[in-house]
Amino acid sequence: MEYSIQSPTGLRFSAESLDEISAAVKAGTVSLDWHAWHEGLPKWVTVSDLLSPLHGAAKVRELAGKTAGMLAKAGAGLAGFAATSYKKATLKSRFSTTLAAMLEDGELNDSELQVLRQMVEEAGEKWQNVVSECQPIATKFIRHLLADAISDSELTAQEETQIHYHIQLFGLQEMLQEVDSVIQRVRKISALRANILPKSLQLAPAWLVSGEAVYLRSQADFIKDSKIVSSGDLWVTSTRVEFVAPKASVSLPMKSIRMANHRGAFLNLTSSKRGIRVFCISEPGVCAELILCLMRAGNRTANITMDGDTRQDRRLVSKETRNAVWIRDGGQCVECGSGDYIEFDHIIPVAKGGSNTINNIQLLCRRCNGAKGDRI
Ligand SMILES: [Zn+2]
Repeated sequence: MEYSIQSPTGLRFSAESLDEISAAVKAGTVSLDWHAWHEGLPKWVTVSDLLSPLHGAAKVRELAGKTAGMLAKAGAGLAGFAATSYKKATLKSRFSTTLAAMLEDGELNDSELQVLRQMVEEAGEKWQNVVSECQPIATKFIRHLLADAISDSELTAQEETQIHYHIQLFGLQEMLQEVDSVIQRVRKISALRANILPKSLQLAPAWLVSGEAVYLRSQADFIKDSKIVSSGDLWVTSTRVEFVAPKASVSLPMKSIRMANHRGAFLNLTSSKRGIRVFCISEPGVCAELILCLMRAGNRTANITMDGDTRQDRRLVSKETRNAVWIRDGGQCVECGSGDYIEFDHIIPVAKGGSNTINNIQLLCRRCNGAKGDRI
């Protein structure tokens, strides 16, 4: 069993056994108040909890249950006018504490939801009034659901329904735009992977040949040696990729392209004639998938090399590992602290030998993930 240990300041250790951890504590390299996790635990525990004979998932669940139970009892035991106003004043804090404990595993099941609804009902409050006080926790939870759902670059109808259900439940309609833009991107990628081409665009630049269809036109920068050579438009048509700019235009027949992939914000195209061409573009993942789809449509699958992390690689990351990463990183980008557009990122890409363990996975926002593409 692999144990991950982390200090409050972010120092990370891993150990193979409890004995090894005990030895590290004795040696003073690890403190009892540091946090630890292993596969199977629903959340991080302290090293002291881990080393106690009662440690384990059951104990953590029992503790979470007790806290919720105690809070509910404290509320129910009060009576009278003073008690009612006290209850109202504290309901929101009891509610948000309980909600936060329930959401730690990245899920809200029916029985948990029932406990919450009962708590609100007993206090004579309205659900919407109470949840409106818990928006930061609920917003993080929705982002957790979303990052989890798209970690395999596919989104099932069930995952989508679940996300929308929770947006309604917590009155977070202002998140719809953010969520929908992520969903649209993932949907586009799934369709392209299933060889479904989007509708062609009604655009006819002068250089278009009859019978040639335009699938994408996007503002892009042509990059060489990490510098912008020129800015222009990248066109993807049924037969070529055309970068049109005042200077340094690039024309790549689809037939000559051997590989299309993206890293961060960069689209990399390898062609038999011109080697690797790099473009900075707003949706490089969608663009790479589109080109791969057109290459397959041209029936040259034998030449296509997949690079980067494939779906299968990503799927091997267990839900428990994703949850542990989410909790360790506080549901925020580890680079800039932003909570928007969070993604699970392999520190060392799987394609470069990186593992699917917690120590190799972190939370990054889309922007920082994009910036990372430049470095690796
Ligand atoms: Zn960031």
